[in-house]
Amino acid sequence: MPLFCSDEWNRKGDDLIDLHSHTYFSDGTSSPEELIADAVSAKLEALSITDHDTFEGYEAAVPIAESAGVRLIRGIELSTRYNGTSVHLLGYFIEREPAQEFISWLFQMQQTRRDRNQKLIDKLREYGIEMTLEEVERKGRSLTGRPHFARVMVEKGYVPDMETAFREYLDESARAYVERQDPQLSQAIERLRQAGGVPSIAHPVRIFRNDYAKVEALIREMIPHGLMAVEAYHSDHKAGDVAHYLELASRYGLAVTGGSDFHGGNKPRIRLGTGYGGNLCIPCQVLKDLMASA
Ligand code: AMP
Ligand code: FE
Ligand code: FE
Ligand code: ZN
Repeated sequence: MPLFCSDEWNRKGDDLIDLHSHTYFSDGTSSPEELIADAVSAKLEALSITDHDTFEGYEAAVPIAESAGVRLIRGIELSTRYNGTSVHLLGYFIEREPAQEFISWLFQMQQTRRDRNQKLIDKLREYGIEMTLEEVERKGRSLTGRPHFARVMVEKGYVPDMETAFREYLDESARAYVERQDPQLSQAIERLRQAGGVPSIAHPVRIFRNDYAKVEALIREMIPHGLMAVEAYHSDHKAGDVAHYLELASRYGLAVTGGSDFHGGNKPRIRLGTGYGGNLCIPCQVLKDLMASA
């Protein structure tokens, strides 16, 4: 197994990468072992674990990936705010031991999540849905998020499935939604840069209901803050979206990133590396270019 992407990926067609995935240390359902095993069967040359707010899944996966011959990239996904809209930000290649300041900042985010979770319990109770924080926290490991709430709601029979839990209660536009005190996008970009990271705007089609002009304005505004990349390849992207964001990135001199956003059983239709029914195919060149930009 080569340590790095072979140049002939295009001809062989099987040397692919996935730079966006979650383990059960955040809101995925796979252990690091299971995720690396999936990466091997998907014939991925490189994988990034981008758990929300934590590196624990990545750290646990390092020795497993090494013995499996999968190149593992250190990543993270952060929830931020831009003009009142929620924007997810990916960060790659962050230093192994980032400054204490960055660690405390991450810790602060974990704290605001815990506060949000308590408020969410109270809000759900108003709608007759009873659960305790302990009950939900048992579903998560280092982090408890809305998918864990959705799981408990399904298990207790309040909703038939997780999709319904989100649509009726947990989505941003649903009745029990509780806003978190997220950092500003510009600030999160700056923090990642200070920690040696490469910031990339995650799944841009989910921002402003995929209004290209508004997303472009956001990207333009974030470049002076240190934005370095855009996630052009993503399971939620149609072919036209991929082409659009590749062109946009090149126009602004940004690198591109891409990944399936695999969450295991929490988003069961998404496959690692290949997305929804094979709609994803991310060439190794993406990683090479990203590393060159770092
Ligand atoms: P949190 O970080 O706790 O606010 O939860 C956000 C996470 O919930 C996202 O990263 C997704 O994994 C998940 N999520 C958001 N919307 C949905 C949805 N409609 N269906 C399933 N999962 C969702
Ligand atoms: Fe998630
Ligand atoms: Fe995301
Ligand atoms: Zn994600």
